[in-house]
Amino acid sequence: MKRKIETQVVHGHQGFDPRTGAVSTPIYQSATFRHPGLEQTTGYDYSRLQNPTREELEKTIAGLEGGRFGFAFSSGMAAISSILKLFPAGAHLIVSDDLYGGVYRLITEIYAPYFLTATFVDLTDLALVEQAIQSNTMAIFLEIPTNPTMKVVDIRAISALAKRFNVLTLADSTLLSPYLIRPLELGADLVVHSASKYLGGHNDTLAGLVVLNDEKLNEKLLLIQKSEGAILAPFDSWLILRGIKTLAVRLDRQQTNALAIAQWLGLQPQVEKVYYAGLSDHAGYDLLYAQASGAGSTLSFRVKNPAIAEQILNRVQIIYYAESLGGTETLITYPILQTHAAIPPDMREKQGVDDHLLRLSVGLEHIDDLLSDLAQAMR
Ligand SMILES: *Cc1c(COP(=O)(O)O)cnc(C)c1O
Repeated sequence: MKRKIETQVVHGHQGFDPRTGAVSTPIYQSATFRHPGLEQTTGYDYSRLQNPTREELEKTIAGLEGGRFGFAFSSGMAAISSILKLFPAGAHLIVSDDLYGGVYRLITEIYAPYFLTATFVDLTDLALVEQAIQSNTMAIFLEIPTNPTMKVVDIRAISALAKRFNVLTLADSTLLSPYLIRPLELGADLVVHSASKYLGGHNDTLAGLVVLNDEKLNEKLLLIQKSEGAILAPFDSWLILRGIKTLAVRLDRQQTNALAIAQWLGLQPQVEKVYYAGLSDHAGYDLLYAQASGAGSTLSFRVKNPAIAEQILNRVQIIYYAESLGGTETLITYPILQTHAAIPPDMREKQGVDDHLLRLSVGLEHIDDLLSDLAQAMR
């Protein structure tokens, strides 16, 4: 019987420990594993290669994404960096022009000098995507929704286009999580998460997860993971497993809060524009709900002038001025100085990422407290 996702998140892959019945996966804090005899193995040799706690997480995320092979890395960036190594020298990528700043920096500053070229494109315009495809294009890297301006890309259409050109579709699904969207089921070849965000969910752990279906890509990524060793530690794997158990209830509440805040912000005279795909007048609303069951709890908004942005950042109390998203605490960030500082000003400004733009990750506090905090900070 196929279980509902609310059940899947609680029970994970194996759920309880078969040896002891422990309902919480044990933390196998062991670097190495004793072999029963010559040329014999328990299935575990050395924790860079396999670790039972990490394996439970890798199989759990694979199950949640409806995919075959899962991988856990030490951060979202370590996961994305490992993925980029799947491509040979001279490869070209098409990448969302509205994306997490760290990914932009990784591609243009770390990988470009070696071998990788990329074109940054508005992935909501399929004609532009098709025009950007070159003979050496090997993958399209998308985020859904885009970050920070919350545009909605059509994963089915992008994957179909990519397949026609023998190009892979890689989806960074951090902002929605498998509770709300499962890109592999929409045609993507690989899904990646910064599990530091909604999956961990408590602003206490960094982790990156990858899921894919293709046997050859799996072999290659396994080789990269075990050779480079950017793996997730046993305790951090356990923290992410624990976070995942409450993913559904957290996101339900966070989304309710986020929608209420988005609607409230839309009524404030200091606010010029609210970017949240869960608002029914958002340009991508129908497209989002054709692929996903919710808009998540990350939203951005433009204020009328930078002085208001600065005032809000200085005055918020319950809401913390801090980067990151997806956790229990509501956070407000200034993308121009934080998450998107690595993106060149002209590219940033094209997206409207300037000193008027703030991003909120809405958490689990009571909505009345969040709204009064914003109100006092804006007054
Ligand atoms: C945070 C984030 C990353 C990077 O993940 P880390 O866990 O911080 O390394 C990548 N993509 C998106 C969309 C993110 O929000």
